[in-house]
Amino acid sequence: MVHFVGAGPGAADLITLRGKRLLEEADLIIYAGSLVDPALLDYKKAECRVMNSAEMTLEQMGDAFKEAAEGGLTVVRLHSGDPSIYGAIREQIDLLERLGIPYDVTPGVSSFLGAAAALSAEFTVPEISQSIIITRMAGRTPVPEKESMRRMASHGCSMAVFLSAGFLKELEEELLAGGIYTKQTPAAIVYKATWPEEKVCRCSVGTLAETAAREGIRKTAMILVGDFLESSGKRSLLYDPAFTTEYRKGSQ
Ligand code: SAH
Repeated sequence: MVHFVGAGPGAADLITLRGKRLLEEADLIIYAGSLVDPALLDYKKAECRVMNSAEMTLEQMGDAFKEAAEGGLTVVRLHSGDPSIYGAIREQIDLLERLGIPYDVTPGVSSFLGAAAALSAEFTVPEISQSIIITRMAGRTPVPEKESMRRMASHGCSMAVFLSAGFLKELEEELLAGGIYTKQTPAAIVYKATWPEEKVCRCSVGTLAETAAREGIRKTAMILVGDFLESSGKRSLLYDPAFTTEYRKGSQ
């Protein structure tokens, strides 16, 4: 059995209770070396083997899954954040299907949520934005043209941009090309959210690149963009005295 587990954004106590139990029970852990805090490996049994997926090909992972399955061993494939976001689990699941090895997935706290928590931000502020776009700049992995950054930016909603700390000048240009954000639109760079070395830099769309350069941030950063990052004074209907809900009678 292979359990895909979301490790959370960094801090070892942000894994789910289920994820922690699976780590405790595993005979083999294959973890994303560069993005998962090694402190999470403290949860493992003494005799549990550990492999670093950063040094492996998909074929080598397949061999490890197969060998473990033949030995009746339990495997945890530990992914940073949530496995469904830029986790490349789809190809691993296809492989497990071909090999006839059973698997399941345990979610985790994605880093875009860890970054929002570091900023005490709400992505969905009434009348400001009710949608979040999760996306990335094209790097060595291309992004489909229909999802180009400028198209995404043309919505002007709350955005969480992964895997793009190395392309911030281009990101600024693309965000502006969407025609809604301006150079003054609030933005933030959160480096290693929830890790001890976390850095939170509030800036604006026009100062993303210079802020990262000044702070020496080149990777493992979440870029958040949108007016949600600024206090708006807006309030929701949910706690409005005049608003009736299933649980509370409003004054009007
Ligand atoms: N599955 C992961 C994302 C993996 S892709 C998740 O759900 O978070 C790797 C990218 O995620 C990095 O380039 C960075 O943009 C982001 N990332 C991962 N951990 C992060 C953290 N602790 N703080 C900020 N960004 C992080």
